[in-house]
Amino acid sequence: MRQTLVAGNWKMNGNRASIEALVTGLKAGIAEVERAQVAVCPPFVYLSQVRDLLAGTPIGLGAQDVCDQDEGAYTGEVSGPMLSDVGCASVIVGHSERRHVYGESDELTARKFAAARRARLTPILCVGELLEERESGRTEEVVARQLDAVTDLEGVAALDDAVIAYEPVWAIGTGKTASPQQAQDMHAFIRGRIRALDAGVADRVRILYGGSVKASNAAELFAMADIEGGLIGGASLQADEFLNICKAG
Ligand code: PEP
Repeated sequence: MRQTLVAGNWKMNGNRASIEALVTGLKAGIAEVERAQVAVCPPFVYLSQVRDLLAGTPIGLGAQDVCDQDEGAYTGEVSGPMLSDVGCASVIVGHSERRHVYGESDELTARKFAAARRARLTPILCVGELLEERESGRTEEVVARQLDAVTDLEGVAALDDAVIAYEPVWAIGTGKTASPQQAQDMHAFIRGRIRALDAGVADRVRILYGGSVKASNAAELFAMADIEGGLIGGASLQADEFLNICKAG
């Protein structure tokens, strides 16, 4: 049985005061989350604040991105060792906003995945197709390419230390959620592609769904056979809404 994970991606939102209020709300309700593992991914500059606020709670701390290099002359970047040092356990890699707003390639994403593992961080590897890719029947080809970039560089066993998030780009921040069956079909495709390399890894790896998950649709998504939780953007900024999603896990 794979434990559900619900991770909140706060993106570039919040300030010290609003983040303190959000974490206070999460702490007040986390005891009611019975099954799911829960994590939040604040912006870099608030990681230490959130780490201190979360002390003594079961809520994990993750970052939203990581440099593919570990140290040195990389102005503006944040390394895996730095994220570990401030208390992160996980990091999002290859979010669609990194891929499509900042033009990050499959190869760079794979190197970031490797950097996360070197720093003993759990990579949350995001994959997913654009609307035009789905409409032209290329969804599986695109997701396979994104996944293969990582397994080619790091080997399939590396996925034992990772989490995958299937996030159709057309569903992120748009209010349009993939139907449970559409999501399940792609999760099964991803698991099948991993199974072709290693059945044990395929059985163990957790595949989250992301894309306009809300408290009102989380339960039916998480009930699907190959969906082990969610990566939550907008809805993770409201404590009650996020906790209700976690309770569906
Ligand atoms: C995300 O950014 O990973 C995401 C899924 O966003 P939203 O839930 O807002 O669609």
